[in-house]
Amino acid sequence: MPTPLFDTYAPPAQIFERGEGAYLIERGGEKYLDFISGIAVNALGHAHPKAVAALKAQADKLWHTSNMFTVPGQLELAAKYCKDSFADRVFFTNSGTEAVECAIKTARHYHYAKGRPDRYRIITFTGAFHGRTFGAINAGGNPAYLEGFGPRMEGFDQVAFGDHDALKAAITEETAAIIVEPVQGEGGVRAIPDTCLRGLRELCDEHGLLLIYDEVQSGAGRTGKLWAHEWAGSAQPDIMAVAKGVGGGFPMGACLTTDEAGAHMVVGTHGSTFGGNPLAMAVGNVVFDELTAPGFLEHVVEVSNFLTQQLHGLADTHKDKVAEVRGKGLLVGLKLQDGYVNKSLAKEARNHHLLIGAAGDNVARMAPPLIIEETHAREAVNALDAALSALKEG
Ligand SMILES: *Cc1c(COP(=O)(O)O)cnc(C)c1O
Repeated sequence: MPTPLFDTYAPPAQIFERGEGAYLIERGGEKYLDFISGIAVNALGHAHPKAVAALKAQADKLWHTSNMFTVPGQLELAAKYCKDSFADRVFFTNSGTEAVECAIKTARHYHYAKGRPDRYRIITFTGAFHGRTFGAINAGGNPAYLEGFGPRMEGFDQVAFGDHDALKAAITEETAAIIVEPVQGEGGVRAIPDTCLRGLRELCDEHGLLLIYDEVQSGAGRTGKLWAHEWAGSAQPDIMAVAKGVGGGFPMGACLTTDEAGAHMVVGTHGSTFGGNPLAMAVGNVVFDELTAPGFLEHVVEVSNFLTQQLHGLADTHKDKVAEVRGKGLLVGLKLQDGYVNKSLAKEARNHHLLIGAAGDNVARMAPPLIIEETHAREAVNALDAALSALKEG
């Protein structure tokens, strides 16, 4: 049916009117268990009372001033991010792709400020996804997203995921940085092994490169650590892009840097009209406080271990259709066997009132709210069991 919207999305028939915790509710009252949460966004579930209260309170006071004026909520939230990460500096954005743009500009400008404007190339990996702005589609390197939009942007060198020799060979005098998702989301829910992240850090130190993590999807508690790379201990980045879960559903993101990497981003080098606006900061502060409340991340680890264990059982039962269980924490995927299609499984799951997503590499993706309990995991696995049984080839 034609609508006045761009045909960039092909949504199903369901139209959701409201949300409650881990559930979305249709106009007619039908309830669905939400195991994708706006693609890893609604970290606290839907209509979280504290987030709602903070947004309402801010809405009564002040919506927007632009960054011409100090936004107190930004100072507060940036201080929290810096206290609980590698970072010393923060730039707020409205989205993940803008956080990535800021990261790329910051990396290039770092070398420029050091008198090496020739060092601007950025190494990326196959299967990467960094967003949809022109810079980000070029960083992501997915031919399907680049096709038909004119010449590619200069300065990105993509190497095959996991090919260590190719990675080393790609580093030249002109390389500025490496950008990587600690857990590839869109590309098929693939976690980078901790040893590889540490290897990337060493490689960057050896060659004077900046290490950029795109934690837009993997961050904000999604894997059971505040930032996914924390699982790898010493493998800290110089720059990190975050978004999605940090706003819990309010559009916001951020680019975090060390002092060294970010200090040269001075007046005139970057900006955003809406980035870090008071409404976003009101919600962002609540989301952060919840994520870092005692026991919250431990709960994510526990419930995700339970879910993953159940999914392995399911994969065993449906060996003919499920090839592999993937992911980390509450970012999990089922890679389907050849002949079965991830989007068809998502459709069957909807028939059983479970909402899941699809990712690259024929993976059915799940990213439920971080507040789910074991009962939700059981409900999801039962629905998936039924959906897999009903799933036909093609
Ligand atoms: C979603 C995503 C982005 C883009 O974020 P938007 O808010 O859609 O611009 C960038 N990087 C990763 C890893 C993502 O998952």
